[in-house]
Amino acid sequence: MFPMSGDQLLTFRQSLPRMAQLLTKMRPTFHLDSAADVDAGFIERHGIRGVLWDVDGTVMTYHGQDVDPAFPHVRELFRNGPARHAVLSNCDEERFEVLGRIFPEVPLVRGYTTADGFVFRSRSGGRDTHDREQVEELLANGGRQIRKPSGDLIRYGMRLLEVDDPKAMLVVGDQYLTDVASANLAEARSVKVKTFRRDTFPLTIRFTQRLEQLLYLLGSRIS
Ligand SMILES: [Mg+2]
Repeated sequence: MFPMSGDQLLTFRQSLPRMAQLLTKMRPTFHLDSAADVDAGFIERHGIRGVLWDVDGTVMTYHGQDVDPAFPHVRELFRNGPARHAVLSNCDEERFEVLGRIFPEVPLVRGYTTADGFVFRSRSGGRDTHDREQVEELLANGGRQIRKPSGDLIRYGMRLLEVDDPKAMLVVGDQYLTDVASANLAEARSVKVKTFRRDTFPLTIRFTQRLEQLLYLLGSRIS
């Protein structure tokens, strides 16, 4: 068995049935070395009105407690733009709470599948569309977190940030299978950056990151 962590294993397991489709959805609009390059100038130059940010491995170390000093522009972008910004992470419920405290100035977006359809959730400045009890009840009734890759999460982010045109929506992340494929499923644009401080990630996740790189290379050959 591959040495995967729970989170990564879930992403792969949930993606397997549609892997053939996803293989053709892993090409980013832009390859950049670092999220430091996604600055105000970049956003304005490309007519971007909304940005969904992955955070772990994109602007912070693995499960970091703050934006890394390597990205001093991120807080400024979040507070004053240009464009509207939100955070989209595949993290668990506990980390979601932590990220809510780290990023009070922008919404965090999240979704669940339930027997009654999709339920979308956002938290901003300590205010959450769903309190802890509601989420616990939803999960106890068979609800499951919608994880990237998901076009639905991106479309929800677009509604939240009031962006009508998917081409004006940008997803910034360090992973092809989750961040880039999500953007492509919603026909949004994407920036793929190199994983920041890969050395801080557990070996199991680093393994799946390599696997994902291989899938990307395979996908780029068949698409
Ligand atoms: Mg990441």
